[in-house]
Amino acid sequence: MAENTELRKAGLKVTLPRLKILQLLESAGQRHMSAEDVYKALMEAEEDVGLATVYRVLTQFESAGLVVRHNFDGGHAVFELADGGHHDHMVCVDTGEVIEFMDAEIERRQKEIVKQHGFELVEHNLVLYVRKSRKKDA
Ligand SMILES: [Zn+2]
Repeated sequence: MAENTELRKAGLKVTLPRLKILQLLESAGQRHMSAEDVYKALMEAEEDVGLATVYRVLTQFESAGLVVRHNFDGGHAVFELADGGHHDHMVCVDTGEVIEFMDAEIERRQKEIVKQHGFELVEHNLVLYVRKSRKKDA
C-alpha cells in the first residue's frame, strides 16, 4: 500500500492508527481538518481510534513533515497534507471554512517589500480572515 511506503519514508513505523489517519487525510474531500474532524470522520467510518491518539499521530505527522499544522485565529488547529505547493489561506470568520489561494502578484510584492527592507524572504504564511459578502457584486 502506498501509505505504508509514505510512513516509512517519513521515518515512522507503520501502525494501524497512523495508516488509518493518513488514508483519511488522503481521501477526505476536506483538505484542512482539525483533530476533532479527523476523529469524527474515523468514528463515522467505524474506525476505533481515540481522540488522544488522533492528536498524537497528527503531531507525529507534523514532526515528520507529512502534514502542516495551521493555527488560525479563533478556531482549532487544522492539519493538511504537506503534498501541495505553496499557497495561502482565507478563513471564514462565520463558518471556519478554509479556502486556499495563490496569487503570483502577492507573492512577487511580498518578496519586493522584504527586499526593500534589506532582507530576503525565508517563509511566509498569509491568512485573510473573511466573511461571505451579501451583495453579489461586492
Ligand atoms: Zn492549505
